[in-house]
Amino acid sequence: MAVFSLAHDEIGPERLGNPEFMEYFCKERPRKHSGNRKNMGKISDGKRSTLDSEIQYLPGVGPKRAALLKSELGVGTFGDLLRLYPFRYIDRSSITPISQIRPDMAYVQIRATVISAELIGGKRLSVMIGDGSGEMEAVFFKGLKWVSEKLRPGAEFIFFGKPASFNGRINMVHPDIDPVQENAGKGGTAATGQAGLTAATSISGVYNSTEKLRNGGITAKVMNRLQEAVLRAALPEVRESLPEYILKEKGLVAIGYALKNIHFPDSMTALEKARYRLKFEELFFLQLSLLKQKYIRRRGERGIMMPRVGEAFNLCYKALPFDLTGAQKRVIREIREDMRSGHQMNRLLQGDVGSGKTMVAVLTALIAVGNGFQACIMAPTEVLAQQHYRNILKYLEPTGVKAALLTGSSRAAERREIHSGLEDGSIGIITGTHALIEDNVRFRNFGLAIIDEQHRFGVEQRARLWRKSASGIPPHILVMTATPIPRTLAMTLYGDLDVSVIDELPPGRKPVLTMHATEGKRNALYRFMKDQIALGRQVFVVYPLIFESETLDYRNLEQGFDQIARAFPLPDYKVAIVHGKQSNEEKRFNMDAFAAGRANILVATSVIEVGVDVPNASVMVIESAERFGLSQLHQLRGRVGRGSEKSYCILMTGNRVSKESMHRIELMCSTENGFELAEEDMKMRGPGDLEGTQQSGLPISLNIASVAKDGIILNDARAYAESVLERDPGLTSSANALLREELRKEKYNIRDYSQIS
Ligand code: ADP
Ligand code: MG
Repeated sequence: MAVFSLAHDEIGPERLGNPEFMEYFCKERPRKHSGNRKNMGKISDGKRSTLDSEIQYLPGVGPKRAALLKSELGVGTFGDLLRLYPFRYIDRSSITPISQIRPDMAYVQIRATVISAELIGGKRLSVMIGDGSGEMEAVFFKGLKWVSEKLRPGAEFIFFGKPASFNGRINMVHPDIDPVQENAGKGGTAATGQAGLTAATSISGVYNSTEKLRNGGITAKVMNRLQEAVLRAALPEVRESLPEYILKEKGLVAIGYALKNIHFPDSMTALEKARYRLKFEELFFLQLSLLKQKYIRRRGERGIMMPRVGEAFNLCYKALPFDLTGAQKRVIREIREDMRSGHQMNRLLQGDVGSGKTMVAVLTALIAVGNGFQACIMAPTEVLAQQHYRNILKYLEPTGVKAALLTGSSRAAERREIHSGLEDGSIGIITGTHALIEDNVRFRNFGLAIIDEQHRFGVEQRARLWRKSASGIPPHILVMTATPIPRTLAMTLYGDLDVSVIDELPPGRKPVLTMHATEGKRNALYRFMKDQIALGRQVFVVYPLIFESETLDYRNLEQGFDQIARAFPLPDYKVAIVHGKQSNEEKRFNMDAFAAGRANILVATSVIEVGVDVPNASVMVIESAERFGLSQLHQLRGRVGRGSEKSYCILMTGNRVSKESMHRIELMCSTENGFELAEEDMKMRGPGDLEGTQQSGLPISLNIASVAKDGIILNDARAYAESVLERDPGLTSSANALLREELRKEKYNIRDYSQIS
């Protein structure tokens, strides 16, 4: 949850709770401190805001409930509560006739008269109610005395609850009972802004709740009452956070109106306006902070000047056995522009598996070499680093540029040789794993870092790489990822990076025929595999690896291996196996056997083989496919279809598969477009869960907007943030004082790839 603190953001949330600090920094802070850079633009300094009051002092809370609110919802202050928005709304403005009620409906409101009440077995009060259109039962198990006294036959009430069905008849368990008000059913009152702090509107908010909250007395109703109390106490002190001109230009409602109506909407229209404003604001500030970093970097950060394309590039380019795709050419142009701009390149290169990123990486590295600099290409695993190295050697042949491979398993003598080659500059391009960032690896003239599958590198590791730059000027950075990230999410995750996309596959790639099969078809699967092997093809069989139950996963893998070894016996078939518990030597032995065609089948866990390029492998069997996410399935599928043969991906699942998993599998069978799959994945699971982004996560947590669902607002907010910065890059004008102030908050201290050291 975002910490909401209007006047004291620079003190930090932890300290605010401490009364001593409150005394010191908040209450007593004299206005004349405004000469201090940090205080510039502060308006309400020197006065402690009700918004920062501890939540226990809100009427109806107290220490016990305060502890619950804190532990369950992270609410510590009045301001926090105010920024805890409903996650859905119940429209109580309409009345449903009993005859139209179905058991699968959400909450409904009924206006009905009590017909009879009967206590059954001393435990259950059954009340028949009718509204002229029909009759139904309301059931109560608790507070029977109170209910039976209230619900006298002949009296009319508004009943509100969720319909259910019992013995084939519709009923409602423990509905809310309210007296009939004359305006009930006629919509809300007129928009009243801050003045109308009433809970008597017909649309009510529903807040996230937990068992503990309810047991502690913070029921849905109580939560509504607390929100009413906090609005009453604190809303007058909420200051506008967006400049007047932005409200005008974007047609946004004022903050007071937005907060009032997000909790107690006067009407659906008012709610929409409130939500739009709050979402826009959230996304706007996020984009503004990211873009501002980019602007500052562009203007301030010196980059290594690499004006030439260089001979090595041209030699490699001319010798290529194929033409670059249009997308590859465009991306290389973008990269060239960066490298000769005099500013540091910070570029994310996105491209689906097989789109030809390696080629782009090699040509980029050759530009650096052509300008007298060294480049490194870092991969997350040893297997991948080796593969890059092999490919690179092939491309470098016509250039005479020397490359080397450095990994954790490089031998001491080899290591020494590489170290000196890097120090004397004879090695132009070094490929490797984390071993590259060790302190004893020093370059003569390091100028470019290419990082593959960036999300697996930590900030600290990247920082160490940056520091190897000889000139003290940060190296150019190209981050490559094969995880297709939807545009909207990329903007948020990498808003401070420039993004290039290879959105075109090299020609001649054959589609991969994808199908789903259940356990009952295993014999057919094995027959199919045998037929393919007889045609000279090779087969991947991949098992899921899910870290919570590693032992179990390995048991699956081993059982699967045994099963396959039995079905594909020696000497006709050779089966290799690769998994994380093997030594590097074992891994390499098995991988090489498969890559060289000595093994027909490679059984592997999902983590090992990402990126492995074996063109002759044309069948990918994914076991327990229901346990993989969409983008992981897509990554795995990308391992086949690289050669000239027709390729297949078979998704094996158990006989019973959840609806959600089935949806994933159907999507996989219906499209090969990684971006389409990623969009779907994001819609299904939310951006936080998107594979490849877990570690990096969103730069700040969003309170109301959703990157997955509010793409249009996000685009608008980004474009608008850009135009604001274009007009005033430093946000120094007085009109932008509020923006400057907001961005000073802790939460916008977003990691910055270029400025880590
Ligand atoms: P990625 O790293 O994006 O998954 P690669 O760079 O490994 O993709 O390329 C996949 C395959 O396509 C490689 O065998 C590579 O040689 C080939 N390739 C790359 N670019 C082209 C191109 N423009 N035309 C034809 N083949 C290409
Ligand atoms: Mg690759």
